[in-house]
Amino acid sequence: MKATWLTVDFDDERHVPRFSGHPTRSKHVQSHIEEAELNKQLSEPFKAGMMGFEEWLGTNSHPVTLFVIADLFMSEEFNQWFSHLLEAYPERLTVGCHGLNHRSWSAWPEDKSGFSQALQQATQILRKMAGDAYRPWFRAPGGYMAPWMAPVLAEHGYTVDSSINPSWLVKRKAGKGNSWADVNQSLQDSNLVSRPWKTSLSLPMNGPALSLFPLSILARWSWRKAPPSIEAKDIDRAITDSKTKVTTLYWHLLDHARKKATWEPPFQ
Ligand SMILES: [Zn+2]
Repeated sequence: MKATWLTVDFDDERHVPRFSGHPTRSKHVQSHIEEAELNKQLSEPFKAGMMGFEEWLGTNSHPVTLFVIADLFMSEEFNQWFSHLLEAYPERLTVGCHGLNHRSWSAWPEDKSGFSQALQQATQILRKMAGDAYRPWFRAPGGYMAPWMAPVLAEHGYTVDSSINPSWLVKRKAGKGNSWADVNQSLQDSNLVSRPWKTSLSLPMNGPALSLFPLSILARWSWRKAPPSIEAKDIDRAITDSKTKVTTLYWHLLDHARKKATWEPPFQ
């Protein structure tokens, strides 16, 4: 089967590596009190993204997997919007885990117990909030995925990982001294199905690449050529069966804030 898996990462501005969670890229170091306060608020672009995404959902019938950061649920506004969204599209939406916060795990020294604790909390929150839409599918925050993370994912019941961006350009995200092949091997050893992101000419074509010139030209061209989306009824089987070939695409909820909240992914 040739089909495309559409996925959206739910990152607010406070989550991105240049803001928090990365040892060298993050500009902002907060106290715990500041952080707790900040977590309760959604940025204006994020709210615009919520609106734009919901509108886009109304224009098509594609199934979409939402990779959600669990600390978003500290916002009551997000809570309400999210449950309303899942109620509106019970057949089309599935929910995977995009971390407790957005810590770039593989950019830090190996920390299995820290990752395990955060994953346990995140899983608990997402199970509760997403209900039937929850799936034990993981996408590493910022795409920072090291081999040591795979057995921890397996311990917490995860069956699918969609973190690998198999491009030389972001090889460092596999962690110091590792390659994407090492991450892939570790996922295989831990019995997880790997759903790497689609690349084009070995270059990234998802997420930030969609709007980052000159990558954006290649990205948009490649998206238009992607196979049709998986049918909603086939999602679980297609994603969890390692023999099924799937083209994995992703964008950010925040992208929907672009062009005065009229932005749409370049997918037919
Ligand atoms: Zn992210």
